[in-house]
Amino acid sequence: MENVLECYYHPIDFSNNMTKPLKAVVLGSGIAGIAASIRLANKGYAVTVFEKNNYTGGKIHALNQEKYRFDLGPSLFTMPHLVEELFTLSNREAKSYFEYKKKEVICNYFWEDGLKFKAYSDPEKFISKASQTFNTDACSIRNYIKRNKKKYELTSTIFLEKSLHKYKSYLNKSTLKALLGLNQLDLNKTLHEVNTVFFKDPHLVQLFNRFATYNGSSPYKTPGLLSLIPHLEMNLGTYIPKGGMHQISQSLTKLAKDIGVHFEMNAAVEEIIIKNKKASGVKVNNNVIKADVVVSNIDVHSLYNSVLQDTKEIKKLERQEPSSSAVVFYWGINTCFEELDLHNILFSDNYEEEFQHIFEEKIMYDDPTVYINISSKDCPDDAPKGGENWFVMVNAPSNNEQDWSAEITKVKKAVIKKINRILKTDIEKHIVCESSLTPAEIESNTASYKGALYGSSSNDKFSAFLRHPNFKSDIDNLYFCGGSVHPGGGIPLCLLSAKIATDLITS
Ligand code: FAD
Repeated sequence: MENVLECYYHPIDFSNNMTKPLKAVVLGSGIAGIAASIRLANKGYAVTVFEKNNYTGGKIHALNQEKYRFDLGPSLFTMPHLVEELFTLSNREAKSYFEYKKKEVICNYFWEDGLKFKAYSDPEKFISKASQTFNTDACSIRNYIKRNKKKYELTSTIFLEKSLHKYKSYLNKSTLKALLGLNQLDLNKTLHEVNTVFFKDPHLVQLFNRFATYNGSSPYKTPGLLSLIPHLEMNLGTYIPKGGMHQISQSLTKLAKDIGVHFEMNAAVEEIIIKNKKASGVKVNNNVIKADVVVSNIDVHSLYNSVLQDTKEIKKLERQEPSSSAVVFYWGINTCFEELDLHNILFSDNYEEEFQHIFEEKIMYDDPTVYINISSKDCPDDAPKGGENWFVMVNAPSNNEQDWSAEITKVKKAVIKKINRILKTDIEKHIVCESSLTPAEIESNTASYKGALYGSSSNDKFSAFLRHPNFKSDIDNLYFCGGSVHPGGGIPLCLLSAKIATDLITS
């Protein structure tokens, strides 16, 4: 028999005859779920988060191995103000929960032909070094950066901060400005085409093409509008949290608990109760929990497949291409590499072929671009003295039942060869402990469709409009946040999705 529970918890004392608060349930404790819970608690809701795992944070998780600590998922942190905003909103001092610092060097880039480039966060320093390294006129780099900034300013309000699926989002000055500036958005060219218009040097084109991977897309398909991403990195900066990326989800979980949000762990939501086209609660572990508002942070494919069982919606979602996934190795290294920093890229010699493999053939490429993240460069406690914690990631196709144990053996060989070639080392002899992560594991850990890192890709100029909205027009009281819905994946956009969803609830 089912038990019907009112709510697990509410934080406010009602002994003074105050009206009882509305109850909200949040399904999933990914970064967007946690942010939504904080926003709703601040609006006076009694909030319970149901999470199927025994930890919060979803993809933002960590691993300890011997004396090494690794962030399992994201490694690049931009737009920290979106995290800070949640502390300010809750009247808490952000610093007492969460600290971070700005990086002076954004990334070290390496090519097979021996070229190296250190990308500085200071735009003028970047321009001057890039101009020398890539034998490119400083003015064209400056103009490119300026144009990216303009694209961001024209589109961020409409594409990132509001629901794209409500008429009123379009009725304002900033949308009108974006519409008038449509010709500056490069919607009809690919990112690669835009970059080749600005630059002749193929290294510099490849460097700027790489930003398509920040939302799991291909530079040869995604629209030129996406050149606004380097603006986020170069003009707004990149950061590293004290204690690593895991501190983002951990500090926000602590904040949520401190302001009264209740977390139920090992609690997979089985059903959303819908009566008269209204969501009225959820079923978890055979208990029915009533709620006035239901906010789902579950990947929408997984939600429609197993929780709502809606085949029509699944068919609609299947028309969208999943973003790329990743194969990651976590290596404890017993030495230090002076020429590396927090973020390092060893480029593939044939970038176009790499993306062809990932998105068309859906197989791993044998000369992949290798990303090495070393958080111990900035967080010394992450590795023993004289060692480094290497997070080594390559782009991968989405999970289509490939034989990942065979793939991982092949990929590891290719990655080691590339590292040895470019860094002139014998890396295998320095690996003292190892773990790995495949697209299939990303899928099973967080119920993310095909192990996509960022929901659906932006390989189509209409992707932003096709992404699932933050509400459901035929079911009241049901809202959505997270990387699989508008405005998309990555920590900043997930945090914005929580704001959009909760604004829809409370406005
Ligand atoms: P998710 O993290 O997807 O979590 C969803 C939660 O819902 C999970 O905890 C899951 O267990 C829970 N859940 C699922 N089904 C149920 C159910 N039925 N009942 C209850 N709970 C359920 N982003 C960046 O910004 N920078 C990066 O450098 C970066 N690199 C990445 C590298 C890797 C290897 C990965 C995996 C991701 C990376 N990302 C990066 C992407 C970023 O991690 C995600 O976009 C973001 O964390 C997704 O958050 P989310 O809110 O969508 O929830």
